[in-house]
Amino acid sequence: MSNLFTVPKYICRSIETGWNMDKEKVWYNLRERQEEREHSFLSKYAAFADQSLGRDREEPKCDIRTDFQRDRDRILHCKAFRRLKQKTQVFLAPEGDHYRTRLTHTLEVAQNARTIARALYLNEDLTEAIALGHDLGHTPFGHAGERALNHITEDHGGFSHNQQSVRVVERLEKDGKGLNLTKEVRDGILNHQTKSTPMTLEGKVVRLSDKIAYINSDIDDAIRAGIIREEDIPEDLTQILGNSTNLRLNTLVHDIVRNSEGKADICMSAPVERAMFSLRSFLFDSVYTNPLAKGEERKVSNMINQLYEYYIHNIEEMPSEFLDLIHSGETGQRVVCDFIACMTDRYAVNLYKEIMIPKSWGLK
Ligand code: MG
Repeated sequence: MSNLFTVPKYICRSIETGWNMDKEKVWYNLRERQEEREHSFLSKYAAFADQSLGRDREEPKCDIRTDFQRDRDRILHCKAFRRLKQKTQVFLAPEGDHYRTRLTHTLEVAQNARTIARALYLNEDLTEAIALGHDLGHTPFGHAGERALNHITEDHGGFSHNQQSVRVVERLEKDGKGLNLTKEVRDGILNHQTKSTPMTLEGKVVRLSDKIAYINSDIDDAIRAGIIREEDIPEDLTQILGNSTNLRLNTLVHDIVRNSEGKADICMSAPVERAMFSLRSFLFDSVYTNPLAKGEERKVSNMINQLYEYYIHNIEEMPSEFLDLIHSGETGQRVVCDFIACMTDRYAVNLYKEIMIPKSWGLK
């Protein structure tokens, strides 16, 4: 079907290949041109948009964008993506303006992943879509919030942010209809943790980029907060990875690209991979369990517990979009968990104050 964005196929052919214009006077659109181009320059190990396993619900294709580009745009425009700006990355409610939030972490993951995907001639659009969506299901207050929700719901299947990210895109966004993303994007989001194996190399790039991003940025933020100093990082690790955040990022990204070129896998060299995991252990021992950084976590657990108890006994007070899920057959436990997981740090604190703290009299 021709429209504003449709380009005559014979014109494209004549420009790109010099074919005889009279041989093929059919119309095709810009998306189809992009899909063709993917086959001409991407690695044979890349995921090609025109070979996608597709969406749960069939839809007409876009004239301009490939399915993976469209998925990336849907994630970028969804409400859960905007809420990431008010969610903790590692430090709870930091007062400085330069600490990472879950949104800036997501953008850093996307940038690292796109750099690697482009260098390896993988599908950059699919990579970006997975990266932008990977943490959509994160709770308020980072992993402290996640642990609290998991503990509360362990008799009802438990809670993990990667599964919740898939639930956000499949069920919670767009008033219960979900974003109807392709199988490859949902698979990459679900399997972005170390123990999982994504079905595409693009998913594997994001899985590793997530690790690279949080290890480096959490160390950078911990140095900024005065919890550790650059000199505290073991010398055997800085000798391999570098003695600054920039150098370490550069080392890790280059190592992945060099060791994955021409392979059907995403790999690192043994010494750099060992150093990266040792740096991660250093981070766990020095920062994630540091009483200065984690002193408020007990309060997070109490607050999430109390919010859950309140709403499980006052379900009708939840916003209508969550009540609709219950009316459609979801359990109260599941939907209260959804409601809490969707909250930003600020929303959770304000709501807690609203329902748990008595208000003072306004009369003077
Ligand atoms: Mg992440």
